[in-house]
Amino acid sequence: MLVIFIGPPGAGKGTQANRLTDYLGTPHISTGEMLRQAQAEGSELGMLAAKYIDQGQLAPDALVVKIVGKRLDQPDCLRGCLFDGFPRTISQAHSLDDYLAATNREIGLVIELSVPEKILLERLAARSERGERRVDDAPETIPNRLRVYRNQTAPLLEYYRDKNLLATIDAVGSPDEVFERIRQAIDKREKEMANRPK
Ligand code: AMP
Repeated sequence: MLVIFIGPPGAGKGTQANRLTDYLGTPHISTGEMLRQAQAEGSELGMLAAKYIDQGQLAPDALVVKIVGKRLDQPDCLRGCLFDGFPRTISQAHSLDDYLAATNREIGLVIELSVPEKILLERLAARSERGERRVDDAPETIPNRLRVYRNQTAPLLEYYRDKNLLATIDAVGSPDEVFERIRQAIDKREKEMANRPK
C-alpha cells in the first residue's frame, strides 16, 4: 500500500514512519533524508537544496519531484511505499497524482499526525537539548518551519479529505500508543481495499 505521512515538524513523523515501514514491509521514502544525503555528498542538487533547508524553507517543487520520481521507478516501490515529508505542496500532490495515474498505481491512505502547537514547540526544544539537533532545528528556524507547514502543507489535508483518503491520528501519547492508532487505521483501510468491487 502507498501511504503518505503528513504532519508538522515535531509530530513524530520519522519515528512512526520507521515503525510503519517495518509493519508494512515497504520502503520508507523521506525526502528530507534524501535531500540531506545529497547535501552531504556535495552534489549540485544537494547544494541547491541546502540553501532552502537551512532556512526552514521548502526546496523547489521541480527538484523534489525529480528525486521522488527516480526513487519511485525502482522496483522495490512497486508493492507500495511510505512517504514521509512528501508531498509538501499542492503542486507536488498533483505531480504525484499524475505519476501514479501514468503507472497505474494509487494512494492507499494519507495519515495526518495531529499535535497541538504548544506540544510541538516543547518536543522540538527537547530534541534540541538532547543534541539531536539538525541545522534546521535551530530555535530561530523553527517558527519558520511551522509557518511553512501551515501555509503550504496544511492545505493538502483538505485536498486528501475531499478524496476520502485522509485519516487524522491523534499523535499525542507514547510512541507505542500513537503507533497502535496508526496500525488500526492501516488495517481498516487494507480491509476496505480488499473488499472493493473489482
Ligand atoms: P524533513 O526531514 O521532512 O523535516 O525535511 C527537512 C527539510 O527538507 C524541509 O524543511 C525542507 O527544507 C526540505 N524538504 C523535505 N521534503 C521536502 C518536500 N517534499 N518539498 C520541499 N522541501 C522538502
